[in-house]
Amino acid sequence: MNERPSYDELKERVKELERELDKYKQADKKPFPLKRGYQFLHPDWPEVKWNISGLFIRRRFLTSFLSFMKSSNISHVLKTFHDAPDVLWNGGRLNMNVKFYDDSAEYFKSLNDKGVGVFLTVSNLVLEEKHLDDPDSNRLVECLDEKCGMNGVIVANDLLSDYLRKKKPGLKQVASVVKSFIENPQAKIEWYKEMQSRYDRVVVHTDHMFDLDLLDKLDRTKTEILINEECAYKCQHRQRHQTLTSKFNIDRSKEIHEEMEKIKKTVCLGSSTILDDKKNLENTRSVFLTHCEVKAIYDMGFRDFKICGRRKPVGTFAWYLINFIFNPYLAYAFADMIYRKIEVDTKKDVANVIKRNAPAKSN
Ligand SMILES: [Zn+2]
Repeated sequence: MNERPSYDELKERVKELERELDKYKQADKKPFPLKRGYQFLHPDWPEVKWNISGLFIRRRFLTSFLSFMKSSNISHVLKTFHDAPDVLWNGGRLNMNVKFYDDSAEYFKSLNDKGVGVFLTVSNLVLEEKHLDDPDSNRLVECLDEKCGMNGVIVANDLLSDYLRKKKPGLKQVASVVKSFIENPQAKIEWYKEMQSRYDRVVVHTDHMFDLDLLDKLDRTKTEILINEECAYKCQHRQRHQTLTSKFNIDRSKEIHEEMEKIKKTVCLGSSTILDDKKNLENTRSVFLTHCEVKAIYDMGFRDFKICGRRKPVGTFAWYLINFIFNPYLAYAFADMIYRKIEVDTKKDVANVIKRNAPAKSN
């Protein structure tokens, strides 16, 4: 058995890396010895396209991140950003005070101009006919340019999918991972084939990513691999959890919220632990893929990978990106740079909040 390295060993390893980096600095007098471009990126998946969460809730961070990627000539790996504000069609995550910006259309256009597509997570599962004309949700979709060919929606509900196909035929449609949780926990290949004929891309159920024989039967150009899902492998509560999320986003019921909290605290702690499945401890692993697993899937020809985490703290979310996107040799240096930027941005945000809440001057 491999033992974990001690803290001192880890510290020594970091020092070693710093010494190596110093050597390069002295040789080249530049912060990094590498030619700008591909070497900044993870060398094991040079052709990967990243589909990244946080479009709304992490707007400031993603805007900074994109301009950093652009100035380093590596923004071509960023394919789309996705998320949705608090609207009725939102799915996957709870409506919890995510603002619908007045300037969303301009914001989306600015991303498109930089080569990044915008996908709205309108993946609510429980929509009915009467929800299709929800004004805010419709207004949100109206903000997308459907002619540029880069934008789309992530859907899980057939009614909404059909409605949007008619209303906005130029938008791409991705079948949400939530759809696979509900409709295909059995990993039927026929289901995937049918979805791949109906949608531009299909996000693979996160339990199925480890079944390479199944993956091998999928159309590479129409598949998206979510590499850091927040639930545990083979969690039995995904369907319930996702259905409750969708219901909550429609009526914001307190009871639903309480039931979800209970699931979170008592049966599925998310990411790695299912508390009520002690009999199947071999299933206790996270579906946060290791680099070797990402590499194995990439080598099969898959190129569209997805990173979620829009409701995680910004530092955690940033780390997901750093971990998968950058050359691991340089990741800690990128982390330093990105975390400093987050700190500066957070200070600006706090200053703005204080300014807005400042008491009026008394006469
Ligand atoms: Zn779970």
